[in-house]
Amino acid sequence: MIDCPSSARVESLLSEAALSRECACKLISCSDNQLPLLLSAAVAARQNFKPGIVTYSRKVFIPLTNLCRDYCGYCTFRRDPGQPGAHTMTPNQVLDVARAGEKMGCSEALFSLGDKPELVFHEMRETLRYLGYKSTLHYLEAMCELVLRETTLLPHPNPGLLSAEWIARLAKVSPSMGLMLETTNASLLAVGAAHDNAPDKVPGKRLHTIEEAGKQNVPFTTGLLIGIGETVEDRVDTLLAIRDLNRRYGHIQEVIIQNFRAKPETPMHDSPEPTQGEMMRTIAVARLLMPEVNIQAPPNLSAPYYDDFLDAGINDWGGVSPLTPDFINPEKPWPHLEHLNSRTEAKGYRLRQRLPVYPEFVSALTAKPGLLSDKIAAVADHQGYARRLA
Ligand code: SF4
Repeated sequence: MIDCPSSARVESLLSEAALSRECACKLISCSDNQLPLLLSAAVAARQNFKPGIVTYSRKVFIPLTNLCRDYCGYCTFRRDPGQPGAHTMTPNQVLDVARAGEKMGCSEALFSLGDKPELVFHEMRETLRYLGYKSTLHYLEAMCELVLRETTLLPHPNPGLLSAEWIARLAKVSPSMGLMLETTNASLLAVGAAHDNAPDKVPGKRLHTIEEAGKQNVPFTTGLLIGIGETVEDRVDTLLAIRDLNRRYGHIQEVIIQNFRAKPETPMHDSPEPTQGEMMRTIAVARLLMPEVNIQAPPNLSAPYYDDFLDAGINDWGGVSPLTPDFINPEKPWPHLEHLNSRTEAKGYRLRQRLPVYPEFVSALTAKPGLLSDKIAAVADHQGYARRLA
């Protein structure tokens, strides 16, 4: 029996106030026999939130630079200058990808990039000087504005840690932005752990960025990376930290539950990957702790059983591209959008395309006059979802 709150009934688990840390820790560790009750409660909570709808964002992935000053133990995206595949995109390359995505009905330009590479690599400083920018963030800001002005795509930058000033600057050229919290377990910064030699992965610094976004009412995407050496209790604590920030600022538009995948060429190549059961439990507890926040799990990292996550309480598939690969996990292709649609419908839900900013945050953004507001209004339908343009 799951003995929290007081009885093993779905209704009792739906009471958010009753879900203490202790209870959440029990639920996330529940036995296979107890799992159906947890999943039932999560699906009921999800249905109360957005009945019948599952969303995704049709996007292009723009890896602005894969140079990064951090060395996360699981990352295959990052490069040092001179390594095969090291690359910083030019403005023309950015625009070409965005225009190609526009023709394929995409509405999001996801900018993913390494964190502050110019601080450690003179090659990046020279590239930025050649391009005419003082820093990677200045270049990112200009490329977001370029895409916003020249296409119908809306930028969603993921540049790592940001100061209050940079959140304000990027918020003028993008309706939403993101930073994975990953975990609140600071011991993963220790020698030999996942975040050894990753100065931008200090949990307190990441929480600070997310909080600054909250103070400025910026719709924000964050989430957990599970299986990188944290405990199940750490997963609960990370969810509670996100919930706490959302309770204070109401700006968390989406929580991603992402599973670590072991990759041959990384220091963590032989670390165990989280099981499907761990993913289901983490998603379900996230849903119960945050019943009115969009919960997402990337389908390409859990093929072929990704649609089971609909039984654990997700209501979004995140960004899926008909054009560009997942440059963070290039060996894991996106599902074909027709497959995603048919598998979502087979579970009884209707798939809808959203913008990078979720519908419930759209009206606040369109209320502020300016280029960003005009561009959002041009691509949003009357409910705040993506209007089909292609
Ligand atoms: S996960 Fe991000 S911060 Fe870490 S090494 Fe890769 S690109 Fe850099």
